[in-house]
Amino acid sequence: MKQIEVLLPTAAPHGFDYLDGGLSLGAGDIVTVPFGRGKSMGVVWGAGVAELPASKLKPVAMHHSQYPHLSDEFRAFIDWAAWYNCAPKGAMLKMVLPIAEVGEEVKSRVKIETEVDIARFNLAPLSDIQRQGADALEEKLGKGFSVTLLDGVTGSGKTEVYYDTIAKMLAIEPDAQVLVLLPEIGLSVQSLSRFEKRFGTKPLVWNSEVTPAKKRASWQAISTGAARVVVGARSALFLPYKKLSLIIVDEEHDQSYKQEDGVIYHARDMAVARARFEKLPVVLVSATPSLESHYNARQGKYAEVSLPARHGAAELPDIHMLDMRKVLVERGNFLSQPLREKIAQTLASGHQVMLFLNRRGYAPLMLCRACGHRFQCADCSSWLVLHKSKPRLECHHCGYMQPVPKTCPSCLSEDNFAPCGPGVERIGDEVAEFLPQARVAVMASDSTENFKSLEETIVSMSERKIDILIGTQMVAKGHHFAGLAMVGVVDADLGLAGGDLRAAERTYQLLHQLSGRAGREHIAGSVYLQSYLPEHPVMQALLSGDRDAFMTAELTARQNAHMPPFSRLAAIIIDGAKEDEVVRTAKELSAAAHRNPSSAVHILGPTPAPLFMLRGKFRYRLLVQAEKNINLPEFLQGWLGAVSHPSSVRVRADIDPQSFL
Ligand code: ADP
Ligand code: ZN
Ligand code: ZN
Repeated sequence: MKQIEVLLPTAAPHGFDYLDGGLSLGAGDIVTVPFGRGKSMGVVWGAGVAELPASKLKPVAMHHSQYPHLSDEFRAFIDWAAWYNCAPKGAMLKMVLPIAEVGEEVKSRVKIETEVDIARFNLAPLSDIQRQGADALEEKLGKGFSVTLLDGVTGSGKTEVYYDTIAKMLAIEPDAQVLVLLPEIGLSVQSLSRFEKRFGTKPLVWNSEVTPAKKRASWQAISTGAARVVVGARSALFLPYKKLSLIIVDEEHDQSYKQEDGVIYHARDMAVARARFEKLPVVLVSATPSLESHYNARQGKYAEVSLPARHGAAELPDIHMLDMRKVLVERGNFLSQPLREKIAQTLASGHQVMLFLNRRGYAPLMLCRACGHRFQCADCSSWLVLHKSKPRLECHHCGYMQPVPKTCPSCLSEDNFAPCGPGVERIGDEVAEFLPQARVAVMASDSTENFKSLEETIVSMSERKIDILIGTQMVAKGHHFAGLAMVGVVDADLGLAGGDLRAAERTYQLLHQLSGRAGREHIAGSVYLQSYLPEHPVMQALLSGDRDAFMTAELTARQNAHMPPFSRLAAIIIDGAKEDEVVRTAKELSAAAHRNPSSAVHILGPTPAPLFMLRGKFRYRLLVQAEKNINLPEFLQGWLGAVSHPSSVRVRADIDPQSFL
């Protein structure tokens, strides 16, 4: 019997040795092995390495021969992704085998329909410019690794163009599989029914919503190749496709591609890496590409397909700035007089309005009028947000909730609280007050408990049963409402506060995407931005529509500051329940780095994190800024591995950080 290494979906950085049990197993085979007191699914990773007598090793319990083995290229990708993200290989495998806890034979009664019938495709006839783009993408199919940025204004038909590419791929190879990654919230009924209309069948959907039984059935369909098109959130990227042939990353700039818990990774970057290992074409799609992708396209590293105009007669909306220092805003209100007039006019002409404010709840802070006491989360450095519809105070960081109290805990005065600032619920109240006849809906939660009601709201909006939709960031994304003529942004400056590396870029992306919801068909669209900073380059870029000039200015600023994409960053986050231990670990890490100084790597910090306390843990951060030619994962592993710390302190590396909280 041979000794083999089996990688298990655990937090271990390596596999465990077993005997092959006479099953003549090869690398990549999916097996079940005895583990601890039970069993676990795992993957044969290679020859055994441990110097143990055979009598100490257990044999593999079974080989799941119904699943194809994981290819060398895919396993190499997993090894690389673990290395690059400084994550244990076992944790990476957990994403490949999310059904592993089942252990034994995977059985499921859930039926997945996954037939693809080319005769039932009903694709849009493309315009000349769209056709050119689609032809350029078709060129890439079946020719190995390539990255193409499909960059087109909102409503230009990017989706129709990549649908064409998917159809071509499915037609060229009868067993090809296509993966379409969407931001979690983009997996709406709207986008799926659109897919169904064009392809005559539903795609297989993979996201955090699916039930365990469905997950199992889906995993089977993916690994055996039965599922030809998978539309999924970021976790769909790590599944063991039998014959992955094309990856599309829609809304590639979207922040939600960055996974911040567990294994920290960026799904867009991992998609490009997977494509490189498995020699596939990948298409990154956006109306507002990330600065990184834009730069790569400019440098010629990525091919580029552009769709400069909206499809058909639809025009891009007019953008207007409302300078909040000059316009009239009634005391206690948040919507200025001119914005109110525009809303009323739009409704009078029979069209719909969308109002945007990136704040859930009624008010971001509640305080006591008598003594000034502010309600704060006991476990996080954050205010409790007042929700009126529920009603309660909530921490948006840890989920803590409490009823709205009668008395102030500090001065005991009764019912004497002031909500400070607006959230979407408060805007809803304001609108209802000045337009009592309007049908108003507030779409505020991004929590999964309300997934159904969100979808219902979207459907009602599409069917024009809502006049004014008020929402947070989720309304910005991908929706197509034919009757929507006007978008109003309550606080256009909100995202610029805090000033992280990408604040301007993100604010531009968000406001631009949001503007893109207006006037998508026959009605002319308009957008009103309430801002105290109308001269800010972001606002100016939105007004002028000159995105590329803005991107050039941002790139120059990044170059001057020696920030990505001109250098590489990694954040080290140190947290624990005891502040002194956290501080000591942070200081020791910093001291260890300074013992071997390098001109190519700068360590900044440690500093208390802006979100100093989260879920009862104290948090400190270090920032690593490295030259691009540095082997950053190797540096980090050497450095972090050399400093020991109490087990109650956690040290995590966040490669290419997106959040600096
Ligand atoms: P984008 O993805 O660039 O925002 P979409 O693909 O959603 O653009 O297209 C915007 C709207 O125009 C959609 O309703 C889409 O169905 C329609 N559309 C785009 N191209 C075509 C086409 N060639 N034929 C018919 N409708 C189209
Ligand atoms: Zn909290
Ligand atoms: Zn008080």
